[in-house]
Amino acid sequence: MATTSERGASTPARSPADASASGSAASNFIREIVDDDLRTGRRDRVVTRFPPEPNGYLHIGHAKAICLNFGLARDYQGVCHLRLDDTNPTTEDVEYVEAIQRDVRWLGFDWADKQFYASDYYERLHGFAEALIRRGKAYVCSLSEEDTRKYRGSVSEAGTPSPYRDRSVEENLDLLGRMRKGEFKDGAHVVRAKIDMANPNMKMRDPPIVRIRHAHHYRTGDAWCLYPLYDFAHALSDWIEGITHSICTLEFENNRELYDWFLEALDLPNRPRQYEFARLNLTYTMMSKRKLLQLVEEKHVNGWDDPRMPTLAGMRRRGYTPESIRNLCERVGVAKTNSIVDVALLEHVVREDLNPKSPRVMCVLRPLKVVIESWPEDHVEELDAPYWPPDVGKEGSRKVPLSREIFIERDDFLESPPKDWHRLAPGREVRLRHGYVVTCTGVEKDEATGEIKALRCTHDSESRGGGGKKVKGTIHWVSARHAVEVEARLYDRLFDVEQPGSGDLRAEMNPTSLTTLRALAEPSLKAAKAGDHVQFERLGFFFVDPVDSRDGAPIFNRTVALKDTWSRQSSGRAGANEGAAPPTLPLVATPESGKQAEDGKAAAQKGAQKAEGKAAAPRVSAELSPEAQVLKDAHGITGEEARILAGDADLKALFEAAVAAHPSAKAIARWVVNEVRRELKGASAKALPFSGAALGELVSLVEAGTLSAPLGKEVLAELAREGGSPKAIVEKRGLTQISDTGAVEAAIDAVLAENADTVARFRAGNQNVLGALVGMAMKKTGGKANPKLVNELLRKKLGATPA
Ligand code: ATP
Ligand code: MG
Repeated sequence: MATTSERGASTPARSPADASASGSAASNFIREIVDDDLRTGRRDRVVTRFPPEPNGYLHIGHAKAICLNFGLARDYQGVCHLRLDDTNPTTEDVEYVEAIQRDVRWLGFDWADKQFYASDYYERLHGFAEALIRRGKAYVCSLSEEDTRKYRGSVSEAGTPSPYRDRSVEENLDLLGRMRKGEFKDGAHVVRAKIDMANPNMKMRDPPIVRIRHAHHYRTGDAWCLYPLYDFAHALSDWIEGITHSICTLEFENNRELYDWFLEALDLPNRPRQYEFARLNLTYTMMSKRKLLQLVEEKHVNGWDDPRMPTLAGMRRRGYTPESIRNLCERVGVAKTNSIVDVALLEHVVREDLNPKSPRVMCVLRPLKVVIESWPEDHVEELDAPYWPPDVGKEGSRKVPLSREIFIERDDFLESPPKDWHRLAPGREVRLRHGYVVTCTGVEKDEATGEIKALRCTHDSESRGGGGKKVKGTIHWVSARHAVEVEARLYDRLFDVEQPGSGDLRAEMNPTSLTTLRALAEPSLKAAKAGDHVQFERLGFFFVDPVDSRDGAPIFNRTVALKDTWSRQSSGRAGANEGAAPPTLPLVATPESGKQAEDGKAAAQKGAQKAEGKAAAPRVSAELSPEAQVLKDAHGITGEEARILAGDADLKALFEAAVAAHPSAKAIARWVVNEVRRELKGASAKALPFSGAALGELVSLVEAGTLSAPLGKEVLAELAREGGSPKAIVEKRGLTQISDTGAVEAAIDAVLAENADTVARFRAGNQNVLGALVGMAMKKTGGKANPKLVNELLRKKLGATPA
């Protein structure tokens, strides 16, 4: 068994002042913890880890964890390990390991030589399991899966100890040895930690730590038929690597007690500590590897790197840049409560980053032929066309040929246009980008179908490049003789629903998430290379597909349209996929192309550009719908909460009924949005076996201090399972929070007396043990003490500084 911890880093941590001087990241509660740990000397280094399981590709949610963990290591001169958390032989694969490495590097982070695999620790983890058995802290259990479930009890009932719980150390060790040799089939036995079958935290009820699984592992092959379970493997892998701050998402809050238990039970020094942060959620985006795998396997998309996928591989192939994704994570920040970020913010940061990186070129997606009848038959004019708008401040231009026959965008012509139409129509004028002003003099139609076949125009030969008359609109075009045919792939949202993933995936999907077109591009684009970013003027940012493009035959993926066509469209999504500029706006309306000043000096137009507005960055919580706004105003709840409630009628009904019973809307909104939704796991609130009034009662008990928040969650879980009344559950289970100083003090005194060695370690300067003592005192009271009070009293008794 291992007794030493391999240190991940040897460089001393930077002082917090240095860290903030690097200016690379805004502070957040985790950084405050790290600052405090370094200042007080609790830690002298920062070692974090990013621990994906190689059972799928990384998605944009993982990017947040990557930026946080690697960002901390960077800013505090520490190290961040890449740990492949590979303890499940049936789902993991080397393809995923490689994809993970590629994606983390692409995001801009480097683990140097600190790449580790949980599967490399199997032997040591096995040793830890034996050590727990020897200490009487683990046993081999032979209950069936079904009986194990029955014995576990429920939130309202204590579990029943397994009949195998008191096996002797010798018998346990013997069984474990035979398990390892492969003498038993899957599920026949399992090693369980011996903790407490009555613990209010279900995770502490003798959790399994090692199971039998006769399966081939992608790295260890058939060497093992025993595999460690997540909580056990994770805590000890962290310890083996000398992790200091083990950062994970909020779902693991209840696992923290178990994490600490393993380290304590094995009496390991220099323990890592777990901290939880809110995961990244985006509207219209599904972030679950399991469900993304389903999309791939059922061929709803073309692989993990399909540009519609929220995977980093998909986003890279679509043309998103690592800078923009890092920027998103930075803007979203690190919080302690879950929320949902508007995907428009992601699109915004992508545009912002691509704007100065994407030369402006012309391409017509849906061509309509135009004959310029005043133009000499074989005449070709090479127009000088700058690649960049003035505000980008970059040099460079190419020649664009203009001839008698050109193609324009079909959407840029209307036969009977509204008054404020600034594009082409019979008798109306428009400027050809970089070229001349043309006037439409005729329309040719198919006699049978009435379809418009071509337009006739004349041009004003004095108007080249902005000269001559001023006109309101400018359109893009390509010369018919010179155009090159290219494939354009227009991507739209993969899902039509704001929070996909809770129902039938197929029903939630947007049937027109991909439109493939044969487009006509200006000749310079024939030379576009895989991986180039360009802006097709007025249409969007495009990226030359790195997989399917061939030399001389580029394929253009639309990374993002110039404008957020979604938030503008109040009714339905018709036209969202069109890609062409909206009907009533002049060329320069978008923030990105906004300063193109297509007519060079047109000062009047500059004013117009300002009026169109440099669109402000969407806030993390997007603009509220009227319904959400009403909720927010009526109850004083946050915008995010209002948005979630407004988007789910059943949840909203529950919220309103709860508020009617207990007038504390803010607290109830928090409970509904976080805890109730967690319980629902995507199901409808309608199906809940308890009423809004019961929820109101529960929140009132917590608010009154009768019930601690963690126990409140347990009561909620029971309500969600079995219904009933919160007061009755609290009474039946004796959960009333102990806020009586005397009772709490008694528990603390007992803990201090029983743990003299721990207290001595504290007095010798080890602040870390304080948490463990608080935990023990909490446990003494059955989790019923007010944790704040325990903390305060304990600190007082030990003469520690107040928290
Ligand atoms: P999924 O739910 O997609 O299957 P996971 O949590 O099972 O993801 P892991 O490979 O275990 O996937 O995740 C590696 C790390 O990434 C974990 O520390 C996890 O907390 C973090 N992570 C996963 N999803 C998100 C998210 N949406 N936001 C922030 N961090 C995340
Ligand atoms: Mg996971």
